[in-house]
Amino acid sequence: MKSTDNQAAQSSKPASPKTNGEFAPPPNFIKYIIDEDLKAGKNDGRVHTRFPPEPNGYLHIGHAKSICLNFGLAEEYRGVCNLRFDDTDPAKEEVEYVESIKQDVRWLGFDWQDREYYASDYFEQLFEYAIQLIKKGKAYVDSLNSDQIREYRGSLTQPGKNSPYRERTIEENLDMFERMRAGEYKEGEHVLRAKIDMASPNMLMRDPTLYRIKKVPHYRTGSMWVIYPMYDFTHCLSDSIEEITHSICTLEFEINRELYDWVLDRLEVYHPQQIEFARLNLNYTVLSKRKLIRLVEEGHVDGWDDPRMPTISGLRRRGYTPESIRHFCERIGVAKADSMVDIALLEYCIREDLNKIAPRVMGVLRPLKIIIDNYPVDQVEELDAINNPEDPDMGTRKIPFSRELYIEQDDFMEEPPKKFFRLAPGREVRLRYAYFITCVDAVKDPETGEVTALHCTYDPLTRGGDAPDGRKVRGTLHWVSASHALAAEVRLYDHLFLKENPNAVEEAKDFSDYINTNSLKKLTNCMVEPGLATAAPGDRFQFERLGYFCVDTKDSKAGDLVFNRTVTLRDTWAKILRGQRHKT
Ligand code: ATP
Ligand code: MG
Repeated sequence: MKSTDNQAAQSSKPASPKTNGEFAPPPNFIKYIIDEDLKAGKNDGRVHTRFPPEPNGYLHIGHAKSICLNFGLAEEYRGVCNLRFDDTDPAKEEVEYVESIKQDVRWLGFDWQDREYYASDYFEQLFEYAIQLIKKGKAYVDSLNSDQIREYRGSLTQPGKNSPYRERTIEENLDMFERMRAGEYKEGEHVLRAKIDMASPNMLMRDPTLYRIKKVPHYRTGSMWVIYPMYDFTHCLSDSIEEITHSICTLEFEINRELYDWVLDRLEVYHPQQIEFARLNLNYTVLSKRKLIRLVEEGHVDGWDDPRMPTISGLRRRGYTPESIRHFCERIGVAKADSMVDIALLEYCIREDLNKIAPRVMGVLRPLKIIIDNYPVDQVEELDAINNPEDPDMGTRKIPFSRELYIEQDDFMEEPPKKFFRLAPGREVRLRYAYFITCVDAVKDPETGEVTALHCTYDPLTRGGDAPDGRKVRGTLHWVSASHALAAEVRLYDHLFLKENPNAVEEAKDFSDYINTNSLKKLTNCMVEPGLATAAPGDRFQFERLGYFCVDTKDSKAGDLVFNRTVTLRDTWAKILRGQRHKT
């Protein structure tokens, strides 16, 4: 065994570590397995994977891991990857979900070409396979009710016992199964079960149900069927029908593998290899459709694409790029052990991408008016601003400067503590791309004492941001010209959950008890530079000093701009890394 492992390690050729500081994806154990299979000439050298979502919800970032893995392996090994809808539960599946899944996979950058498959298209074939199992004496119609079936199954410590219907003749089973299909029985009256071993240490092997009666119309097959195949019967056979070589699934299906193999072996059909990997868990959020659907239905969020949701559509609306999500999936790698990934890594990946591509602009979230007393009343200057210091090719733009401006309320303090280097009475700071200004007076609301405006003076010699006499200032503020700025709404987001692992639910609690009710802040009086008038839905920007923002694709309109903050500039991930380095 050892030597095979070594050979596997040697035979694989992971991407060589890049020397230019770029991230090189680590090799993973699935590639070792595929390399070994190719060396052994298995599957005629084919690599054929599939991504098999059930269309009962929108895809989330965990699915992205599986998509990147399955499509990524196919690409790397010049194979192909199918998109297969695993749609055997008519009660929960909908066309809306199918459409959203296709949109999300495409948006992530993957192409299934003409390989779009549906398990429901195999219903007839699956029925035939079930007949074959019955004929081989490997399946029977059981008439126990669901409570009895549970009772007869035994427990982890107790073997189960055989159903009194287990020894029905093949003829009787065939007849009853046909009549199940014909709709002659009520739901729950009979099921078709595999005849395996009621004493198996693997509870899933204790005569698992293969078909149940369900008189519910299916979104694709309508009311053609009143019996539906179970996941464990459908999945392996769908893989086999499509001649999948490597059937990659998450760790919780490890226990199902014995049944996967049993069905294919009994039917003596093409046999793909099931390989399990650890699912993605992300802190401060949940990645389970069952829970995400509750967030939507109970109105905790504004739909599946709410920018706080860990769904692909939510991340897209939040301003994430497909590249950032793919890089994230590369970075987390593929392992055999469950772990929790820090959401700061995801934020790091989008920051890294947007830093390179997002134009810089200025916007003020909580405006405070300043009046430059010594600036001519009707004068307007057009100042040059750099669009992206990371990319000189992105050029410069003109921004208007005038006597009345807005700065951020946070950037002024009447009595500044130590280390506050921004504006304060008598203090000089730089306005980005403009001038040095000095605060001379704060205007206050006589009743509340709140500062409502500032009087300042500017030094005309500092145009562009430097003083000819070499004097320095500690702070540089962003600003907009009051009469030119556009009003905008800005939405700031925080983690959806307060608890790091909302899945670890304490007694008498529900995961929804940990929802962060302050995860969305809507600021409606924001002011942004006039050039943003032409910003289109989905456009991404860096608001200097504040973070990366994108134009909301649902609510933003020309003249009524709405921005979502994708992520702040503060790099918590780099901080965590520094912290870890200190610890070791
Ligand atoms: P959920 O737990 O969210 O309901 P699921 O596994 O039931 O997910 P499917 O539509 O059946 O949802 O998933 C399609 C594919 O995506 C499966 O192969 C599944 O293993 C994989 N997948 C689902 N969640 C994750 C995750 N968190 N990390 C990695 N892969 C995942
Ligand atoms: Mg599933």
